[in-house]
Amino acid sequence: MQSSTFTEAATRLCAACGMCCDGTMFQIVRMQPGEVPAKLGKMGLKIRCRDGEYYMEQPCSALVEKRCTVYEQRPVRCRLFNCQQLGRLESGETAEDDVMRMIVETRAMVERVKGLIEQCGLREDGQALVERHERVMSTPVNEALEPELLSVREELDETMRRLRLRLNREFRLPPNSH
Ligand code: SF4
Ligand code: SF4
Repeated sequence: MQSSTFTEAATRLCAACGMCCDGTMFQIVRMQPGEVPAKLGKMGLKIRCRDGEYYMEQPCSALVEKRCTVYEQRPVRCRLFNCQQLGRLESGETAEDDVMRMIVETRAMVERVKGLIEQCGLREDGQALVERHERVMSTPVNEALEPELLSVREELDETMRRLRLRLNREFRLPPNSH
């Protein structure tokens, strides 16, 4: 696919998706050599440090209505990242409509997971999806008192399992590939 055509299509697709920024796919983004964490922190990004390594927490605070509000100054890893779907689009392996369909279906699964998490009593708390799922699943349930909660949790766990598989197969990159 021609570079300018690809860029335009990617802009449309990412504006409908946002999953690599909103805590669906990742919990953190690692800072790279040469980056100035304090500068990124001043822009409102959630910069943290553990064992001398800086990283940014997700969901990213710069994401507003699925758009990056610090696009020109975004971290290096954000600049380098193209998910599998965009890679396949660029190589001509898939078409924009197919990628959009994949995004819409996957986002519907994400919304289902979020709905089930809320049904389990955990309100939106600004944490990444995997952390919210783990918190729900690690909370003890009294089967006798809350039998319906048990079936909601089962559905949540199964939907989350299918979502993880889909994200790994269709969106995330293999480790160390970028
Ligand atoms: S996961 Fe892919 S399509 Fe979605 S916002 Fe990120 S790069 Fe764009
Ligand atoms: S800085 Fe921009 S591109 Fe990077 S995670 Fe945040 S919203 Fe996404």
